Amino acid sequence: MLRRSRSCMWLWLASPMAMFWLVWAPEGSPLSPVAFSKPDSEDPVARAKRLLLEADAVFFDVDSTVVTTEGIDLIGKCFGIMKEISELTHKAMDGHVKFQDAMAERLQLMADHGMTKDKLEECVKTEGAPQWSPGVQEVVKMLHKQGTDVYLVSGGFQNMIKPIALELHIPQKMIYANEILFDEKGNYAGFDRSAPTSASGGKPKVLKMMKRKKGYKTMIMFGDGATDLDARANGPASAFIGYGGVQVRSKVKKGADWFITSFQEILDVLPKGTDL
Ligand SMILES: [Mg+2]
Repeated sequence: MLRRSRSCMWLWLASPMAMFWLVWAPEGSPLSPVAFSKPDSEDPVARAKRLLLEADAVFFDVDSTVVTTEGIDLIGKCFGIMKEISELTHKAMDGHVKFQDAMAERLQLMADHGMTKDKLEECVKTEGAPQWSPGVQEVVKMLHKQGTDVYLVSGGFQNMIKPIALELHIPQKMIYANEILFDEKGNYAGFDRSAPTSASGGKPKVLKMMKRKKGYKTMIMFGDGATDLDARANGPASAFIGYGGVQVRSKVKKGADWFITSFQEILDVLPKGTDL
C-alpha cells in the first residue's frame, strides 16, 4: 500500500516536469519535442526531403546550378579570355583561393581586355540568354506554388542574373549578387565591396540576414560550390542540397545532406501540380 502511494506521488511530481520539458526544452536538447519527433537517426536524404516540403525559404546558387554556365566565363568569352577566366573560376569554386581576390583578378583581366560599361551591356545581350539546368524552372514554379520564398544568391553578377530572375518570376529584391562598377566615362572601377556576396562567407551572411529579417524557420540552400555548402556548414541553412548536374566537386558531394545530379529528383519529391 505504502509502495503504491509512493509511486503515485512520483507520478504526481513528474507529470508537470515532463510537460514543462515538452513545451520549453530548447531545440537540440535531448528532451526537446523536436528530438522526440525527429530522431537523430533520421537519414540525411529523408530529412532534406522532409525539410524541402516544410521550407519557408529556398536559396539557389545560380552559376552551374540554375543555369549550366558560369556568368563570369560568358563575360570572359565576350572579351576573348574565356579560358583564362574559367581556370580562375574553378580555382575559386574549389575553395583554394580567397573569393574576393579571385573576383578582383578576373574583373581586372577583363578590364585589361576592353570591358567597359557599354561593352558589358552588349555582352549581356549576346550571351545572357539563360541556359537552364533541365527541370529547374518547374522546381521554382512548384516552390512558389507551395508558398515558399525563392531567392537567388550568387557570387556572380547582377547583369547576368537579372534575365534569369525575370524568367523565373523572382523579384529583384530576392536577388543577392555582385555589381560591377564603372566610372562616369564607363570605364571599369572595381566592384561593390559592400555586397555580402562579394567576399568569402557571403552566402551564410545572406541567409543569416534573411532569417533575422523574415524570421524563417526552415531554409534550404541549393548549389554546386564550396561557397554554397558554407551556407549550411557555417550558416543557418537547415539543409544543403548539392547539385552535380554540371560540375561534381568532391568536397561538396561529401558535405551535402542530399546530392542530386538532376532536378527531376526534386520534382519527384514536391507535390505534383495539376496545372503545371
Ligand atoms: Mg555555382
